[in-house]
Amino acid sequence: MYTAQITGPRTIEYKEVPMPEIKEGEALIRVKAAGLCGSDMHKFNSHSMPNMPTNIYGHEISGVVEEISTSLSGFELGDRVVVKPILHCDSCEPCEEGAYQFCEDGGSIGKTVQGGFADYVAVPTSNLYRLNPDVPFDVASLADPLAVAVHNFNKLREIDTDDSVAIIGDGAIGLLSAYVAKQFGYSDITVFGKHKSNLAIAKELGADTFYLASGDVDISQHDFSNSKKIVIESVGGEQSQSMKMAVDLAARQGEVVFAGVFPPQYVVNYAMRDQGWKELSITGSNSFQMHKGKDEFETAVEMINRDSQTLEQIVSHKFPLSQITQAVDSMNNKGEKGVVKIVLEPSE
Ligand SMILES: [Zn+2]
Ligand SMILES: [Zn+2]
Repeated sequence: MYTAQITGPRTIEYKEVPMPEIKEGEALIRVKAAGLCGSDMHKFNSHSMPNMPTNIYGHEISGVVEEISTSLSGFELGDRVVVKPILHCDSCEPCEEGAYQFCEDGGSIGKTVQGGFADYVAVPTSNLYRLNPDVPFDVASLADPLAVAVHNFNKLREIDTDDSVAIIGDGAIGLLSAYVAKQFGYSDITVFGKHKSNLAIAKELGADTFYLASGDVDISQHDFSNSKKIVIESVGGEQSQSMKMAVDLAARQGEVVFAGVFPPQYVVNYAMRDQGWKELSITGSNSFQMHKGKDEFETAVEMINRDSQTLEQIVSHKFPLSQITQAVDSMNNKGEKGVVKIVLEPSE
C-alpha cells in the first residue's frame, strides 16, 4: 500500500510500505479521507526527526471496513465508518473517570501507531463509528476536531444559553466551536478571526458576529473588553496575543477556555489582575472524553450524520495523498490560500 511517511526532517515521501496486519479486536480500514491537522503540521515542519514508530501520521480518518478480526464487533465488511483516534485501556484511573485522553496505558492512531495518511490502517473495532450513507467521507473526517469543539463547551461549569460567547480564532477548531455553540443553543456568538474569507463560513456555521482582528488590533479600543461571559481561545501557537485577548474579553465571573496549543515556552501572559478582579474561571481543554456517560466523539459523529451539509463548508481543500507535499505547503500558507481544513484522499 502507499503512505505519506516522514523519512527525514521536513521530508515526507509518498512511498510503498507493507500492508498493516490486523490483530484480534481490530479492523482494517480502507482510508477514504484523512484530515490534515495542526498537530500533524508540527511534525511535518519540525527540523528534527519525530520519534514515532512508523512516522505515518493522520488521525482524522474515515473510510470503509475492508477486513475484520471478529464477528462480534457489530460491524461488517463494507461499512462506512469514522475512526476515533484516541486509544485507551478503560481500566486505569483516568479512564474510569471517563477522562480517557489521560489514559496511563493509552496512545493514539496517527501518533503512537500508524495513522491514516495511508491506503489502509488497522484500528480497534471499539474505535469505529458508523456513518449515514449520505455523509461524504471528507466531512466525516471532521469528527475529531468537532469532538474537540464539543469538549470545549463541556468544560464550562454549566451550559447557560443566555451567556454571550466569544471565540478567538477562525481556524477549523474556532469555526467548529461556533457551530457547537449554535447546536448547544447559544444565540450570542462572536468569532474573532484573522481571515476575511472565513466570515461567510463562520456565519453559516452559527456565528452571529464576525470581527476581523489582526495581530496588532487592540480590542480595548473597540469596547469588547469585559463583555463576554464565555471565551474560547483556539489560536495557540507561537504568540501570546490571543491569551491576553481572551482574558480581556471576559466579563465579570466569566469563563475562559484555553483550547489552543501553545509551545511549552509560552507561559501565562495576561493581566493576572483581571483574573482576580473579574473572578474569572480559567480552564484548559485537551482532546475529548466521556461526558455524562456519553462519548463526546459520538456526539460529534451524531452532528455529522445529522448535518453534514453545513459542516461541509469547513473542508476548503482536498488533495490526493500523493500530493501531501503540496497540501503541507498550502497549510503553511493558510492565509493567502484561504485554507480552513485540508483533507487528503488516498487513491483507489
Ligand atoms: Zn486533529
Ligand atoms: Zn486507561
